[in-house]
Amino acid sequence: MQDEQTKRILVVDDHPDNIQLLRARLEARGYIVEEAADGEAALARVYTSPPPDLILLDVMMPKIDGFEVARRIKSDESLPFIPVIMQTALDSTESMVQGFEAGADDYIAKPVNFRELDARVRSLLRIQTLQSALQQRERELSAANAQLLVLSSTDVLTGVANRRALEERLHDMWEHSQRLHEPLSLVMCDIDHFKRVNDEYGHQVGDVVLQQFAHLLVSEAREVDRVGRYGGEEFVLLLPGTVLDAAVTFAERIRECVEKREFTYGDGQTLHRTMSCGAAAWPHPLIADQEALIKAADDALYVAKETGRNRVVRFDSREFNEHVSKNGTTDRAS
Ligand code: GH3
Ligand code: MG
Ligand code: MG
Repeated sequence: MQDEQTKRILVVDDHPDNIQLLRARLEARGYIVEEAADGEAALARVYTSPPPDLILLDVMMPKIDGFEVARRIKSDESLPFIPVIMQTALDSTESMVQGFEAGADDYIAKPVNFRELDARVRSLLRIQTLQSALQQRERELSAANAQLLVLSSTDVLTGVANRRALEERLHDMWEHSQRLHEPLSLVMCDIDHFKRVNDEYGHQVGDVVLQQFAHLLVSEAREVDRVGRYGGEEFVLLLPGTVLDAAVTFAERIRECVEKREFTYGDGQTLHRTMSCGAAAWPHPLIADQEALIKAADDALYVAKETGRNRVVRFDSREFNEHVSKNGTTDRAS
């Protein structure tokens, strides 16, 4: 934080003599003094960085007078708090009141009593110091909040949306779809026999594979899609504006990518994996809410696992229904 002695004071006056007088006094107090000869110059200075810490503003000036300068500075919320002391030519109640109405923080009558000016400047600079510290804190706090929001919605291992963020996003997409009657697809992807990666190569290699897998999903998805980690090695793709046929085609393409993909670990070693997918979409008579959409995709994924893995199964397809009627309901323990 700036030391009070190095504060910048902008003196605005159309009479150079007045400025010189104030400059001498204020510089003797250790302030940095800047000057502006009219309202326009004062306003221009306020918008250059760093802004002045305080303004000593003359009222009577050609073109833009002091009241107007104060009004403009005080009505601009993008500016930091800059205390304004109006110098009123006469000790008149009228111009004092007008000055405060324009937003001035204090006033001093001309001819200036320098001891009084000194006291007023110091008192306002104390407030300005506190204000700017407060604004700095607010900026830090809102940056920290933004960072926290990102962290709390991100899966630490893979960098994609975590389950909570994914469900929030699904909620928004679901509402949007309902409102505009636009289709929405959800694909549940699960790496096949992933446990074996951990068992054969170790948990760390498992982690690396999960990261590369998530990365592959993100790079294949469109900008509007959302990829999230739903559980251990289970990922969800939210595909807005996508009908079931298109979702199945998309999932099939990614399934092929995964099948061909060489996952790398250690110093250049590679391993292969496949994945199974379940796809579901709204509108569908059996899908009344977002939970039903997730369950439908999950049920289809279950059928994909049961019928051999490395495949994409569509909810409510003939294959799906045949499997379910043969093997009972899809309610299961996992
Ligand atoms: P399936 O084909 O039926 O899906 O078999 P699977 O082995 O992939 O599925 P299962 O659910 O039996 O095992 C999942 C494994 O994923 C077990 C668990 O240790 C592992 N896993 C879950 N989260 C992580 C993780 O963050 N890192 C690592 N390395 N492994 C994980
Ligand atoms: Mg698995
Ligand atoms: Mg699993």
